[in-house]
Amino acid sequence: MSGRADDARVRVVILGAGIVGLATAVRLLGEGHEVTLVERDEPGAATSRGNAAGIAWTDVAPLASPGIWRKAPGWLLDPLGPLSLRLSHLPAFLPWMTRFLAASRPSAWRSSISAIAALNALALPAWERMWSETGTGHRVRREGCLDVFDKPGEVVAARPGWDLQREHGIEVVEMTGAAMRDMEPDLGPGIAGGAFIPGWAHVDDPFELARDLAGHARARGARFVQAQAEGLVPSEGGVTVRLADGETLAAEKVVVACGAWSRKLTRALGEDVPLDTERGYNITVPEPGVSFRRFIMLAGYGFVLSPIAPGLRIGGAVEFAGLEAAPNWKRVDALVARAGRVVPGLRAEEGTRWMGFRPSLPDSLPVISVSGRTPHVIHAFGHAHHGLTQAAATGEIVAGLIAGRPAPIDLSPYSIGRF
Ligand SMILES: Cc1cc2nc3c(=O)[nH]c(=O)nc-3n(C[C@H](O)[C@H](O)[C@H](O)COP(=O)(O)OP(=O)(O)OC[C@H]3O[C@@H](n4cnc5c(N)ncnc54)[C@H](O)[C@@H]3O)c2cc1C
Repeated sequence: MSGRADDARVRVVILGAGIVGLATAVRLLGEGHEVTLVERDEPGAATSRGNAAGIAWTDVAPLASPGIWRKAPGWLLDPLGPLSLRLSHLPAFLPWMTRFLAASRPSAWRSSISAIAALNALALPAWERMWSETGTGHRVRREGCLDVFDKPGEVVAARPGWDLQREHGIEVVEMTGAAMRDMEPDLGPGIAGGAFIPGWAHVDDPFELARDLAGHARARGARFVQAQAEGLVPSEGGVTVRLADGETLAAEKVVVACGAWSRKLTRALGEDVPLDTERGYNITVPEPGVSFRRFIMLAGYGFVLSPIAPGLRIGGAVEFAGLEAAPNWKRVDALVARAGRVVPGLRAEEGTRWMGFRPSLPDSLPVISVSGRTPHVIHAFGHAHHGLTQAAATGEIVAGLIAGRPAPIDLSPYSIGRF
């Protein structure tokens, strides 16, 4: 991964400066390429800004699992539940839903798990290299994560999931509620038990990390163009990017990293993907009246507590409502009410509310793939719940595709051609 000779220097345009585009830019600059980022907003200011900050490489389960079709209809119709659907989005959502149900078949589910685990196994080592290269290691908290349940039956139901993690070499330590409260005394007395996952890490602020990577990229010569990319036109030996203001950019390679908005660009190339968005909500409370060292997951309630520099971030939930509908902030009130049941001392009246657009494909796998239409476009989007986690690994894979190096893992599960 050292600098390259001038004849191997490639002119790359990256569309989208979220955490995936930025991590890819840092990696490509590290390999001596010429990098331009096209971003319509401030780098890192979309989905990568307000997420829960987890380097969640220990998660291996996709959203689609066998039997989910029995539970999903009830969840989807509860507008404040952990998984909901706005009826106005139903027609656009049906193709995604159909593929989601197909992805929940046992064999497809097992394939998704293997592919998530393979990518996540690269995730933390890739971040370690990027934190060290960019001097951002001070942002990492290596405190692990508590997977907490307040009903004994939920602990029993969670065990197969923990076994699945163990099968992939992830350390999971089952604990009683009392032992969890010893570790995190602000958890309420009703906790039945759960597990400690020591390998989990989180960062102190995902937006600040993104800004650090943008600053690093700028200092190493990356050019940032603030513009909306409208289309891609393959040309002899490269690609022309059309911008909304009528300008064009010529590149030898283009990386599509526009997160939940990437479909418009793949369609411009004649490649469609069933990309939808799983909208998620949270509130960051600067003075929550409680304190946690570790990341706390409350799967039974569908939210997490993430102790980060700006405060306690309480959030989660999945809402299918597309890219245009206004946020339903009642979802945040519902999250806070649920959090109060598990953390009785929580004070969450004052805080910053946020909604983000997870870029989601039905099998919970991103697209990290050379385009089927031209070898000069590489897709890197659709990381759903794991975009922060998988960003540095994605950057390394994209850099490998550009350099023509053998991939560290089988890339066929992430191919755009799988749809
Ligand atoms: C509530 C919530 C909690 C989450 N928690 C975690 C977590 O703990 N750990 C984790 O790993 N992941 C988490 N995620 C997921 C993670 O935030 C996303 O997967 C990740 O941010 C996606 O990064 P991205 O760079 O692909 O997309 P984005 O950050 O959305 O970046 C895409 C960029 O492309 C730009 N863009 C789009 N279209 C165009 C265009 N046509 N021209 C120019 N620019 C364009 C946008 O402005 C944007 O800046 C969470 C998400 C949510 C919503």
